[in-house]
Amino acid sequence: MNAPNKSGWKPAMQVSEDGLHNGPSTTTGNRALMLEEPLIFEIGHSQTTGVDLPEIDDGAPTRLAGLERSEPIGLVGLTEPETVRHYTRLSRQNYGIDLGFFPLGSCTMKHNPRLNEKMARLPGFADIHPLAPQQSVQGALQVIHELGDWLCKLTGMPSVAMSPKAGAHGELCGILAIRAAHTARGDARKVVLVPESAHGTNPATAAFAGYEVEDIPATAEGRVDVAKLKERLGPDVAGVMITNPNTCGLFEKDFREIADAVHDAGGYVYCDGANFNAIVGRVRPGDLGVDAMHINLHKTFSTPHGGGGPGSGPVVFSEALAPYAPLPFVKKSDAGEYHLVEEEDGDECGPTFGRMTAFHGQMGMFTRALTYMLSHGADGLKQVAEDAVLNANYVLRGLEDILHAPFADSGPCMHEALFGDKDFGGGLSTLDLAKALIDEGFHPMTVYFPLVVHGAMLVEPTETESKASLDQFITAFRSVTERALAGDESMKQAPYYAPRRRLDETAAARKPKLAWSEPE
Ligand SMILES: *Cc1c(COP(=O)(O)O)cnc(C)c1O
Repeated sequence: MNAPNKSGWKPAMQVSEDGLHNGPSTTTGNRALMLEEPLIFEIGHSQTTGVDLPEIDDGAPTRLAGLERSEPIGLVGLTEPETVRHYTRLSRQNYGIDLGFFPLGSCTMKHNPRLNEKMARLPGFADIHPLAPQQSVQGALQVIHELGDWLCKLTGMPSVAMSPKAGAHGELCGILAIRAAHTARGDARKVVLVPESAHGTNPATAAFAGYEVEDIPATAEGRVDVAKLKERLGPDVAGVMITNPNTCGLFEKDFREIADAVHDAGGYVYCDGANFNAIVGRVRPGDLGVDAMHINLHKTFSTPHGGGGPGSGPVVFSEALAPYAPLPFVKKSDAGEYHLVEEEDGDECGPTFGRMTAFHGQMGMFTRALTYMLSHGADGLKQVAEDAVLNANYVLRGLEDILHAPFADSGPCMHEALFGDKDFGGGLSTLDLAKALIDEGFHPMTVYFPLVVHGAMLVEPTETESKASLDQFITAFRSVTERALAGDESMKQAPYYAPRRRLDETAAARKPKLAWSEPE
């Protein structure tokens, strides 16, 4: 793209070979409401500032004891409107759940209710400090405690750690508890088993924690091969990590049998509960023999995916692992007061493995998630799961006649519908279809994941989409599928109408430019 530079603006809209963008070029680079935006370093100058401060008297004493900055910090100075416009323009080049349907499979991109935002902005939650005296933040501690209570009840588990900051962080927390439990018995097991149908973060977590990771294959119907898993169990296996519902959008029906076998072999069962949205209020993982499971508040409980402060991935624990849970945690006294249990409260905490973070910093997420639970109630949450599953099946049945749906015959799916790129013509692939969907105004679904399906396309509608929005998506998806089956070459250049066309994804991953430098 023709990025404007300090010497002046260049028209950014290129005339593409296909002629679609063929039109008079503009002097600003902008095109109606499609606004070009240079980097902040290209519009501002480090010599200017957006605020008026009194001149510094060089000789005057300061209270900084000689530690004052001796050189400029090198950040650009912009006025307030320039700053607001810069970030607003950037935000308009992006796609968000407030803009349209966001079908990313496994990500549960559901609407973020405005009521949650209102609650999270209450000063008693928004303006507190992690080191504030605990007596002065009793309400906030109560929110953390009550949210934890809801999570324990919904999962049928006795204990919860609220400090992990994301799903993958929660996985690490669970695995560290499993390791601490083995270590406490003097049993240094080395292997964690991860089925093919598990999320990619599962093997990454186990490896990060120092375990050897071994794959367990999936059956032809997309579930864990129980016989293969049982065969591999033994005294070197610390545990298993199973995503349920799994990344093929299917419920692992044999979970209880798997859990019993793992326990008999002396291991622990980690369940990746990021897909809890499909079963909340219907299934309690504690009844299935789970020892540890993370929950993504930004998925099931409607908090924003990023942008709203630190994220949150609480972990629930079984009786066996509860003593090893991390610090700090909130405890309610008999007198109804709340306090944080820390290292020094020896008799109140078990042989904890340590801590994941210094503080519970995710007050905004806790407040939003509890608001969501209280506004739905237990029956409402059950309906969330039912409607999410209904919507996914509506998408599956609306596309299976023209798009390869490898597990459609295994029965209804859970929260997401999985397709493959079989029979695409003209060398077209899943990537081309995904890019063509952008031109139809949709964020693409998850692509090339899970790995068990060739050219996988994973669509998760969530319960918050109306039948009308699903029908519109299915119509658009059918149209691009028909073009892909017919080998429509023009799809190889899609998207045509996005602010940016095809990016070099390999260079973006392998040679990222993370720092700006002055153009030569
Ligand atoms: C999203 C997701 C994760 C990771 O959660 P983050 O909050 O992104 O770290 C793990 N497992 C599954 C199945 C997921 O969908």
